[in-house]
Amino acid sequence: MSLIDLTLNEALSALRTKQVSSVELTQAYLDRIQRLDSQINAYLTVTADRALADAKRADERRAHGEDAPLLGVPVGIKDILCTEGVQSTAGSRILEGFVPPYSATAVQRMFDAGAVLLGKTNTDEFAMGSSTENSGYCVTHNPWDTERIPGGTSGGSAAAIAAKLALGALGTDTGGSIRQPGAMCGVVGMKPSYGRVSRYGAIAYASSLDQIGPLARNVQDAATLLQVIAGHDPLDSTSMITPVPDYAKSLTGEIKGLRVGVPKEYFIDGMQPEVDQNVRAAIDLLKVLGAEIVEISLPYTDYGIPVYYIVAPSEASANLARYDGVRFGKREDREEMWDSYKATRGKRFGAEVKRRIMLGTYTLSAGYFDAYYLKAQKVRTLIKGDFDKAFAAVDVIACPVAPRTAWKIGEKVNDPLQMYLEDVFTIPTSLAGICGISVPCGFDSAKLPIGLQLLGPAFGEEIILRAAYAYEQATDWHSQLPDL
Ligand code: GLN
Repeated sequence: MSLIDLTLNEALSALRTKQVSSVELTQAYLDRIQRLDSQINAYLTVTADRALADAKRADERRAHGEDAPLLGVPVGIKDILCTEGVQSTAGSRILEGFVPPYSATAVQRMFDAGAVLLGKTNTDEFAMGSSTENSGYCVTHNPWDTERIPGGTSGGSAAAIAAKLALGALGTDTGGSIRQPGAMCGVVGMKPSYGRVSRYGAIAYASSLDQIGPLARNVQDAATLLQVIAGHDPLDSTSMITPVPDYAKSLTGEIKGLRVGVPKEYFIDGMQPEVDQNVRAAIDLLKVLGAEIVEISLPYTDYGIPVYYIVAPSEASANLARYDGVRFGKREDREEMWDSYKATRGKRFGAEVKRRIMLGTYTLSAGYFDAYYLKAQKVRTLIKGDFDKAFAAVDVIACPVAPRTAWKIGEKVNDPLQMYLEDVFTIPTSLAGICGISVPCGFDSAKLPIGLQLLGPAFGEEIILRAAYAYEQATDWHSQLPDL
């Protein structure tokens, strides 16, 4: 078995018992990135020198008898998260050359835990998209079939895990951007509850929805990463003060008596039949493992996408107003100030970002605010109410992550509405602020991965980790990775 085949927790054991050094492990990853990433484009920036220096320091710390939760583990970080001293673009040309003077809290916690930074992973511009095709720099390819998208927007992080170009990664999920690429790349992706992980230093898209979370090869590795990044941060007033449980303890493999709700609105006409079949088979397996399966209804599901496409662009239009070419990134210089602003924003924002800014500016404008934004907020509360009612009767909800497997690059870029509709099963969770995890649950006939989504109530990460781990232990989908 070669070094890159170790999972994150296996690598940690090997590092702890000094069977391997962080420098060896990191070099193995850098060599693989060098060999393969031109086919995948998981990374926007590879920080090879820094990685080796981080690794050397980790080995020295170990030589002095120190340990830390990720000491010496090479990771990738989505380029929407600020990394001190390393360019952070959010996938946008408007932030080309932006080198943040600080790291996001979640990222800093990874570094404090001893993680080694391999580089920054690709994303749709400002995390707007579902395929990583909206990046201002390059398209990321799905490691299972390089003619296909990896999902998005954390497509770089998901592809990096699937192609073994990182041991663990961070992504962000505003409406599905960790869970959906996780599913499409056949890896584990987890969106923590809103407030579980600090958003400080995450370049803002839609602040009431954005959440940082882990992508990894298995549930245990995802739990290890979540443990490091979770918890209150005085720099983010929306991060919750509730204590962080010991997530490893929830990985018991035991789900006897667990009540699993299956929402009928999440199995719809037009879904790829193989997705339907595999997810239902996964639910059957949960039953065999001792869970009690209950049919439930989330009646406001259909309103998720329309509500999201008012709330998210509204917040985006406000958040993105700061990119004027003066304070961050690149400027298109013109004689007149307003011309400079116009040229900078006109040239350096991509089409999807402009579309969202226009939508959001419209829905927030006087005269339309009540009809659109306010109404959307009210319906958002109804969507949250659906989940509140459901979680009074069940412990977790099981459903598909996405209606189909990874599509061909280019297939939906000219039809934004089609792309938006792909998020039908992930968006309501984000609007409700609850947590969700995607675990591999099979393949379609083209050998493209399918994901099972497990949803839990707000701050119920332990319960979905428990259910996901039990499922994973009973299957071997997660141990299958593409041959590259
Ligand atoms: N596809 C959705 C959007 O474009 C969600 C993206 C995300 O979660 N960042 O907004």
